[in-house]
Amino acid sequence: MMIKIALGQTKIFRKPFTGVMHALVFWGFCVILIGSLGMMIDGVTGTIDSLSFLGIVYKIFLISGDVFAWIVLLAICVFFVRRVFLNVKRFSGIEMKHKSHQDANFALSLIFVLMVTLIWMNILAYALSPVEMKEYFPVNSFFGEFFTSLDPSLLKTGFEINWWTHIIIIFIFMNILPYSKHFHVFMSIPNVLLSRLEPLGKMPNMENVTKEVKMIMDPNLAYAAPAASDAPPERFGVKDAEDVTWKNYLDSLACTECGRCTSVCPANITGKMLSPRKVMMNLRARMKVKGPQLLKNKSFEDQKSLVRDYISTEELWACTTCNACAKECPININHPLLILDLRRYLVMEESSAPSGLNLVFANIQNNGAPWQFSAEDRMLWANNLMMNN
Ligand code: SF4
Ligand code: SF4
Repeated sequence: MMIKIALGQTKIFRKPFTGVMHALVFWGFCVILIGSLGMMIDGVTGTIDSLSFLGIVYKIFLISGDVFAWIVLLAICVFFVRRVFLNVKRFSGIEMKHKSHQDANFALSLIFVLMVTLIWMNILAYALSPVEMKEYFPVNSFFGEFFTSLDPSLLKTGFEINWWTHIIIIFIFMNILPYSKHFHVFMSIPNVLLSRLEPLGKMPNMENVTKEVKMIMDPNLAYAAPAASDAPPERFGVKDAEDVTWKNYLDSLACTECGRCTSVCPANITGKMLSPRKVMMNLRARMKVKGPQLLKNKSFEDQKSLVRDYISTEELWACTTCNACAKECPININHPLLILDLRRYLVMEESSAPSGLNLVFANIQNNGAPWQFSAEDRMLWANNLMMNN
């Protein structure tokens, strides 16, 4: 799944144009990353081309890095124009604050400068290189030819200015990533690797609650006897950040805020308050407030909770559990699992389900069926049939 969805970027291709652009940027990043790693090792050890021991593999990475630098630069320009000048609906929403847009534009600007400095490094390196190295620059050799007649010391100074700008921006980028939505650069591949492998429509039940429901339905069954391990859970469902699973939290950290989930959500499309992207962003925001305090003091109380203060009950009950969001998400985030757990808390701890559902619950408890009829009356409908026969 990781090879197919994360490295192959297969889900992204559902929107062909942006999909291909995004995939090219991702693959370009993977290739250029190797070159950046080489730069860091060179910088620390004072060597040149420290990764050259990789032989032909290193050569392929360098050559494709020269090509991808231009591809990534062009794709970044297209993304920038889309974000700033085209009114793409999925980039907006109540959860998309000014900071989210600033964050995205800032990251695009940094990547733009990274690619420009990389291209200049390659152009000047070509002009400085001995003949046998010139094949490493299949694209930038075209521009490098214009500089071969310049003074080598001037070329070297130009190369060093771009080298330092490039490496400093890489370090700035790496340091701001954990505080920005671009943290997905680190988190999305592990998140896909750790995807839930069960079918999307399979809802996880609480085992001891399932047993109790079965006991209501048929008290004679053998499984009705409670096992010694049937200790009551500390919490039914999710009320606040500490109740979520580690995977829910990883999902929220990996979210790229791309809005693909919200753009296919039938509740959102029909004007309801629910936005699956907002659910993930709210969990991340709540964990940022509560997480450090919990780690430091073991407990933290600010009279707020994820349910209601961050995600309203109206949003939660608008979900049809269709799973379109989870299917569309390019990094396999599973929103309905969290939404179901938040609703589970409302139902089982606060008894605050919508009135229609409360009636169903009462019927199941009293009659063993969702309808308002007793189980003994179940065959009444067949009375006339039997008499006629
Ligand atoms: S599962 Fe819920 S949140 Fe996801 S797309 Fe369907 S209605 Fe929207
Ligand atoms: S949950 Fe997935 S689809 Fe939705 S905004 Fe986040 S990354 Fe995009």
